[in-house]
Amino acid sequence: MATGTLVICGHGMVAQRLLERLVEGGHPFERIVVLGAESGPAYNRVLLSSVLAGEATADQIRLKDAAWFEQAGIERYCGDAVVTIDRAARQVITGSELRYDYGTLVIATGARPTELGLEGGDLGGTLTFRDLQDTRRLIDLSQRFGRAVVIGGGFLGLEAAEGLRCRGMAVTVLHRNPCLLNRQLDPTGSKLLAKSLTERGLSIRTGRAPVALLGKRCVRAVRLDDDTLISTDLVITAAGITPNAELGRAAGLHCGRGIRVSDRLQTSDPDIFALGECCEINGQTFGLVDPGYQQAEVLAAVLSERATGRRFQAATQPTRLKISGIPIFSCGQTDDDGQTESIVWQDHQNNRYCRLLIHDRQLVGAVLFGDTTDGNWYAEQIQTHKDITPWRANLAFGREYCEQAA
Ligand SMILES: Cc1cc2nc3c(=O)[nH]c(=O)nc-3n(C[C@H](O)[C@H](O)[C@H](O)COP(=O)(O)OP(=O)(O)OC[C@H]3O[C@@H](n4cnc5c(N)ncnc54)[C@H](O)[C@@H]3O)c2cc1C
Repeated sequence: MATGTLVICGHGMVAQRLLERLVEGGHPFERIVVLGAESGPAYNRVLLSSVLAGEATADQIRLKDAAWFEQAGIERYCGDAVVTIDRAARQVITGSELRYDYGTLVIATGARPTELGLEGGDLGGTLTFRDLQDTRRLIDLSQRFGRAVVIGGGFLGLEAAEGLRCRGMAVTVLHRNPCLLNRQLDPTGSKLLAKSLTERGLSIRTGRAPVALLGKRCVRAVRLDDDTLISTDLVITAAGITPNAELGRAAGLHCGRGIRVSDRLQTSDPDIFALGECCEINGQTFGLVDPGYQQAEVLAAVLSERATGRRFQAATQPTRLKISGIPIFSCGQTDDDGQTESIVWQDHQNNRYCRLLIHDRQLVGAVLFGDTTDGNWYAEQIQTHKDITPWRANLAFGREYCEQAA
């Protein structure tokens, strides 16, 4: 059984969930130390969109207070990133040169916004939206400037754009794909979304990519691939994430895009584990919090040797847009691949749309716009591979109709 000191590098959502499960289940460690690069303790990163939009405060999204750590006997240090893992000495070293011995090490360093490498990308006024510090900066700048361009029309880009619009800015969203949220929506869902956002006052430019940011010291305009110039004061890049795998890579752990781990979250060094957005399992990396939470459950069991057979299995994860007043839900496949049949239901007057994709008598995808009440039920049908034949005729009308029909 693992004993001695457990050191966790990174104190984000997934590390915090791991700590909670270790504490609840009883763990074998004499000492637990968690080291975070950010200036404060773990918070609910998913709710940064609400903080940016002015619907929540930084205090409200904190996950646990100091008393919880004290009671649990966990040592927590903030604002000092781990810069080296010395596997020979079994130590981690922080930026301020503090050394911590470990018996077991967990890497939970998350991910960062992908850099696009655009010309002018280092000008003032170019920002990202990943943590509380970014959010505070965005709020501050939104009070001093009037225009923003958000690069990326995925969930994160749209939430950043809507947050800045709520703060009074004139915002343009640029998305290279012709469809917004093209990974989660089909073209009809995407059009409905673009229409709703435009009606709110966002300017949406799809099918065009930025090629350069222009300005002397601060960004003044974005040049697109058709030579259009869009004047702006701020540019926020939200076009994908890159796993923070560098610590593991530099320590000689096997890495791909992320730090490679087994389905027990173990790296190529048996005493080092990794989970959350920094890890890679069977070639897959993760950009949502739920798989990270499931990994935390498995790792807590593995480290405590409570359930030696527990393994992480990636499941189809549903996603929802958190822009208030625009309910969108998506799970699994979103468009026909030649093997699927679609059930489509649209209420033009009430702006509701539902597309369900079926393959071999099973639901394999659901796109909902306008009313997402039954989203979790559809996700359950997809994840459990249920035979939907008994209620196929009622499927688009949701759970209640299907259960009556069964
Ligand atoms: C604005 C926003 C909205 C989101 N909305 C959703 C949503 O609606 N649904 C959803 O499922 N997901 C959403 N996500 C993604 C979700 O937040 C992540 O999947 C989740 O936070 C991943 O958890 P993690 O612990 O792996 O990484 P993180 O939460 O990023 O935590 C990693 C921590 O490690 C720290 N760190 C990095 N390097 C070091 C180092 N060398 N030493 C010490 N510490 C280090 C980082 O500073 C960070 O605090 C959103 C993300 C953002 C930014």
